Amino acid sequence: MAAGGNSREAAGAVSRRAIRQRLQSLADAGVTDVPKAGRSRSSRASAAPSADAPSGARGAASQPLPPRDREAGLEIIRQEVAACVRCPELACSRTNTVFGTGPATARLCFFGEAPGADEDASGLPFVGRAGQLLTKIIEACHLSRDDVYIFNVLKCRPPNNRPPLPQEVANCRDYFERQLQVISPEFICCLGTSAAQALLQTDEPIGKLRGRWFNHGTAQVICTYHPSYLLRNPGAKRHVWDDMKLLMAQMGVDV
Ligand code: URA
Repeated sequence: MAAGGNSREAAGAVSRRAIRQRLQSLADAGVTDVPKAGRSRSSRASAAPSADAPSGARGAASQPLPPRDREAGLEIIRQEVAACVRCPELACSRTNTVFGTGPATARLCFFGEAPGADEDASGLPFVGRAGQLLTKIIEACHLSRDDVYIFNVLKCRPPNNRPPLPQEVANCRDYFERQLQVISPEFICCLGTSAAQALLQTDEPIGKLRGRWFNHGTAQVICTYHPSYLLRNPGAKRHVWDDMKLLMAQMGVDV
């Protein structure tokens, strides 16, 4: 009896510790409030917001590849990217191209700016400090990195992490548009100014683009602040959490 009581107390302590760790992780990700449980997936998914249509809203509307062919489709583009020399400065200075990771059938893509030092070294997107914060944001949304596709506008690291030049974005457009065409996601979340402006082909600043819906082909697009910006401006995390709640409601994911 006493042993049963002790093991219940131990289990209670473990779960309290797990809850504290989860709350700390949510706070790190900028989660300021947790919506009440009880709304069903279907009722939320049916509450479709109206999509804005900025002049830059566009995207390939051709037939999506069957899911079984998508990994092969991405592999073809990945090999082209690995051999790409369209931007001579970037091609000379890169260690690896950084193509993208995640399932080719993902419902949701996160679209960032360009690889940094850690990504250039590993060949994987969002693995440095900003990437660790992105992982926390994804997990705060009750998803895992394995559920989503993560990629960037540029596939090569710009020297000193400078923002992409317009010509570099133009050179990489064909790659990221084809990645999206193959994956045919339902949702795209643009992280920061470069990604939002490149995808939507607009000059509007991220502060004006975030928190609104756009279309890109058949995908619904939401924009939010880049995790690197959040590392410098933690106060903006609450805006990102507001944007993620909009996104999860539209996806029918309870958070
Ligand atoms: N910032 C980005 O935009 N992409 C990465 O992959 C890493 C940092």
